[in-house]
Amino acid sequence: MKQSEYLKILNMSKRTLEEYLNWGESEVPNVASDKEPMTKKQSVIKKDIQGKFSKNTLGSKEKLEVLKKKIDFCVDCPLGKSRLNAVIGVGSPNADLMFVGEGPGFDEDHKGEPFVGKAGQLLTKIIEAMGFTRETVYIANIVKCHPMIDPANPEKRSNDRPPTSIEMETCRHYLDKQIEIIKPKIIVALGASSTKGLSYTEETISKIRGIIKEYNGIKLMPTYHPAALLRNPNLKKSVWNDMKRVMRYLSTGEI
Ligand code: SF4
Repeated sequence: MKQSEYLKILNMSKRTLEEYLNWGESEVPNVASDKEPMTKKQSVIKKDIQGKFSKNTLGSKEKLEVLKKKIDFCVDCPLGKSRLNAVIGVGSPNADLMFVGEGPGFDEDHKGEPFVGKAGQLLTKIIEAMGFTRETVYIANIVKCHPMIDPANPEKRSNDRPPTSIEMETCRHYLDKQIEIIKPKIIVALGASSTKGLSYTEETISKIRGIIKEYNGIKLMPTYHPAALLRNPNLKKSVWNDMKRVMRYLSTGEI
């Protein structure tokens, strides 16, 4: 067995144990694959999650935590079978401003947090220049698991690829739930895949950036992905102009 596969099994086992202990279980029941029926204990946990959502007895933070538990076990698309960590999101559960990228890359898959590589560090600088912090906005991706060119090799760098339309559609309901819980005033779509996924457009990002759209009734600002700014610093001015309009919208309601 490859070391990466061994580490993945160890990580999954640790996470599984922690999740079940969190839910008051004294032992870990068999984790069902997508083809196996749920055990009685798993269906009790599922009902508990659904019940808490439907009764609306949880605050935004708790609702996001419950959603995280669900996503951590998700294998609804093939990305769930190759990821090291599901990357749900980070930031304030009541943020007015939400950033949505396409999907986790190598660094994010290893750390379980979105936008932590070089592009993420640039995004953090942009957020701070806007007068916010990573803790006061919310950062997520359309897909929660790492899309890889070679899914058998999660330890390989330069193995990232954009998510397919099918992967985005399969995962979209999780992002929709995050948006429903957080209720941001405006969403910034970072890059071509995210913009395509959120605005259903085939236009190139250079044509559509800065043109305000709506997603689920919320203002959507498409702009370049920070990775594009690393490749071409000339794009920084356009992104900053887009962010100034986002700041104006948040302070005056005008965009
Ligand atoms: S990418 Fe989304 S739908 Fe696919 S396995 Fe991960 S969480 Fe599930």
